Amino acid sequence: MQIDGKSRLIGLMGNPVEHTLSPVIHNEISRQMNISSVYMPFRVENDLVENAVRGAYALNVLGLNVTVPHKNAVMDYLVDVDDAAMHIGSVNTLVRDEGKQGYKGYNTDMLGLQRQIHDYGISLSGQTVVVIGAGGAAKAVVYMCLLEGANKVYILNRTLSKADEIVRAMSLVKQIHSSTSIIALNITDVSAIKEDSVIAFQATSIGLYPNVNEVAIDSPAFYEKVKTGVDLIYTPANTMFMKLVREHGGRAYNSLKMLLYQGVAAYELWHNITVPQDIVENIYDTLQQKVYTNYVLIGFMGSGKTTFGKALAKELGMDFLDTDEYIEKKEGKSIPQIFDAHGESGFREIETQTLHQLKGHIHNTVIATGGGMPLRDENRVLLKEIGTVCYLTATSEEIYDRIKDDTNRPLLQTDNPYERICTMMYDRKPHYLAACDKIIDTGSNDVKKIIEEIVG
Ligand code: NAP
Repeated sequence: MQIDGKSRLIGLMGNPVEHTLSPVIHNEISRQMNISSVYMPFRVENDLVENAVRGAYALNVLGLNVTVPHKNAVMDYLVDVDDAAMHIGSVNTLVRDEGKQGYKGYNTDMLGLQRQIHDYGISLSGQTVVVIGAGGAAKAVVYMCLLEGANKVYILNRTLSKADEIVRAMSLVKQIHSSTSIIALNITDVSAIKEDSVIAFQATSIGLYPNVNEVAIDSPAFYEKVKTGVDLIYTPANTMFMKLVREHGGRAYNSLKMLLYQGVAAYELWHNITVPQDIVENIYDTLQQKVYTNYVLIGFMGSGKTTFGKALAKELGMDFLDTDEYIEKKEGKSIPQIFDAHGESGFREIETQTLHQLKGHIHNTVIATGGGMPLRDENRVLLKEIGTVCYLTATSEEIYDRIKDDTNRPLLQTDNPYERICTMMYDRKPHYLAACDKIIDTGSNDVKKIIEEIVG
């Protein structure tokens, strides 16, 4: 994409903005559609919101996204506000209006969530919906429920007065759009929900990384009712709320797509275009790779790839995959049987095929690899393409101690396994070093410390 005299500036105002994913979304759309506009984040202090809006207009900025904490405050400095944003009471997108010499405000969070649920085939029409939370995002969810014709909406919140406030704010919308009944409840009052089958939206900040094991409602009786659960959180990819919904037989989704679609909706408003779906899907893949990095654990057998890998996955709310188990399942044979049938080189070939299958299709996962995986040049490249590669190390004595009683290791079936371990570790070390991004000593067996080193 070329920047020239006709290029346009778009961007984000908020505080902080340093960790935003929005530049990825917008600059990728511009690049893939060959549109010369550039997206920049701007950190704006609370007392400078008005200056920022007026300054942006003066500088011919095409449009802006607005994020925390300015989504309400910015409304005072706009020449117009779209109906939905007015009812929701927050604006996250400013669109330049040359006629009125200023910006019109929209709420594309709501549009983003609406597109996400349509993508997932979720219909709210005639349904009972439970919204957990009563902040800005919950208000957008309730508004969407009215537009989509839900039959009844329960709003459950820790602070009941905020749920009551949403009921009041939506009464005008109800007069115009729907006959949906809305009921405010205290978050502990789940027994007041009488329906057996509901669609639930988790719109609190509970469960966000790093507090991945927390959940706003933990009553099993509640999850029995949830046939579909949508968590507005997208990190971790599988929140505790989603896990509980699935454990009780429901389907569950995170809201990374909502983030993407709110950006797409803003881009479409600014440029007066429709972004083709194949480009949206490309960008979703890019986002998933950025947000849901994999950790790939390599190292000699007994270095702790499975033990520490499982602990890491649990701590971070990630999935866990063991390549040996994956191969055994795929081939329908145990590792010793594969060695017997195809020899070591045949097994290494299957490992390479496995990495090709996983690449690009696995996200948010801790992957424990077989000890010989990095021996092939091709595998070392693939491992780095799949995720952050951590080489787990321990001394030969520690390794021997950990695996001496394990009979499922074909390469150790010799008279002197300790000597074999020493030789193999010596031979393999250069390959591990060439394959890795980080070296982690697991000799301490201190799970917390090892996890910190892997993530840090
Ligand atoms: P907000 O306005 O600050 O509201 C926070 C909500 O969480 C309130 O209902 C609050 O209850 C509740 N809450 C916080 N801590 C709690 C606790 N310890 N116990 C019980 N309830 C608690 O935030 P928001 O803007 O609505 O955002 C809510 C969530 O949606 C966030 O996790 C955010 O990341 C997510 N979100 C996602 C997207 C997306 O694109 N995917 C977009 C927007 C928001 P009280 O009222 O009692 O304080």
